[in-house]
Amino acid sequence: MAKQTSENLATSIDSDVGRTIEQYDLSLRAVVSGINTPEIGQLSRELRQLILFDKAASSAQFGAIQVFDADGNLAIEAGSLDPAKENRASEDFFKVHQLDGERGLFIGVPRMHRGVYAIALSRRITDAEGNFAGVVAGSIRFSYFLDLFDRLRLNPGETITVIRRDGVVVMRAPFDLNVIGRDLGKTPRVMRVLARANGSYSGVGAVDKIKRLFVWRDSGRPLIVIVGKPWDGIYSLWQRQAWRIGAIMLALIAFISVGTVFLAREIGRRARAEDRLEELATTDALTGLRNRRKFDGAIELEWHRAMRTARPIALLLVDADYFKVYNDTFGHQAGDQALVAIAGCVSAAAKRAGDCAARYGGEEFAVLLPGVSERDAREIAETIRQRVESLPADPAQLSVSIGIASMRPLVTMEWTELVEAADKALYAAKAAGRNQCVVAEDTHRSLAA
Ligand code: GH3
Ligand code: MG
Ligand code: MG
Repeated sequence: MAKQTSENLATSIDSDVGRTIEQYDLSLRAVVSGINTPEIGQLSRELRQLILFDKAASSAQFGAIQVFDADGNLAIEAGSLDPAKENRASEDFFKVHQLDGERGLFIGVPRMHRGVYAIALSRRITDAEGNFAGVVAGSIRFSYFLDLFDRLRLNPGETITVIRRDGVVVMRAPFDLNVIGRDLGKTPRVMRVLARANGSYSGVGAVDKIKRLFVWRDSGRPLIVIVGKPWDGIYSLWQRQAWRIGAIMLALIAFISVGTVFLAREIGRRARAEDRLEELATTDALTGLRNRRKFDGAIELEWHRAMRTARPIALLLVDADYFKVYNDTFGHQAGDQALVAIAGCVSAAAKRAGDCAARYGGEEFAVLLPGVSERDAREIAETIRQRVESLPADPAQLSVSIGIASMRPLVTMEWTELVEAADKALYAAKAAGRNQCVVAEDTHRSLAA
């Protein structure tokens, strides 16, 4: 991200500086070709001035274009009909063109000229015979770069270095006269910049000791732009973002945690409420045993389970003896209490996990015993009978008759057959004098357990 920003910055500076130089170079070329037009020499000074500098870019950021003769004397100057005497034969920009006919546009080392820091831009004038005939020179003032860098609003520690192809620093932000004009061409790092068009490098700069990420852009123009971003700044930006993301994550986690706890509590509350409702809907109000509805569901389920596992399933039907008489004699309320007492004896005998003790009808109870054989079922029934028999005779002795059936269900059988068998056995117990347990005799279609 930091690299991308630097690349964008370098590209935009490179294209701005490049455009400005190209525009100024056009003015220089126009002057050169004007000078080389013989007719212009015959014109009055005013007309010549007008024609030569007609296309010259003029702005506060550019110095006046000057024409020097082959000896370095100032001959013509834009904006002045009578320029002051000036010889610049000893300066780089003059000597370069004097010695090298192929040079084209030359960009000078920044220096003070007429009280302003500027970079000289110059082109050679060659006469019809191909001899050196002087130099056209102009300048781009530092104010151009200062304005440009100002507009870019650099962050603290960021640097922009504009270098010439030979490694001479033309401009630098932050502005530093000690750096501008320095030849970095021998520095290995700068050599690397000069060798490749675009790239990045992390390290200590040639000027100060701060570690930076340097990104450069070289679009083939005479100047190369290098943008330096201090790693501290990059880290602090990264750190700020990491903190921000961290804080958002924490807030989210906190929100989700609170939400989860709330939901879990709510779900628990609902589950308990539903369990309570379910219990109410499946419990007999008087005795606290399961009701008939629950019993029907349980026998259906256990019957098929026994079928799958080929295990026996036993059923006891428990009926209070002479209960009508008991009721009629001692009242309905005493009858109810007697039913509660009998229910206690029944449920005490059905304690295992799958067992289901239910109130089957008025004074009739059912005990479903999955996995229990006929012999064990008889034992359990006997326990119930004895417990009822040993209840205190208050106001009278209670007794129950119990019908017992145990079967291994076959696929072709319905659970109603188990109930019918137990019911028959109960009838038999009643018929045989009550207060006794009878096992179903005829479990003809099943294998008696
Ligand atoms: P058996 O020995 O043949 O079973 O005779 P029984 O009198 O117990 O049989 P019957 O079916 O003739 O009478 C059942 C009586 O149970 C009738 C009814 O008054 C009584 N009963 C049924 N439900 C309740 C109840 O919830 N509370 C009370 N107090 N009595 C009930
Ligand atoms: Mg009955
Ligand atoms: Mg009865």
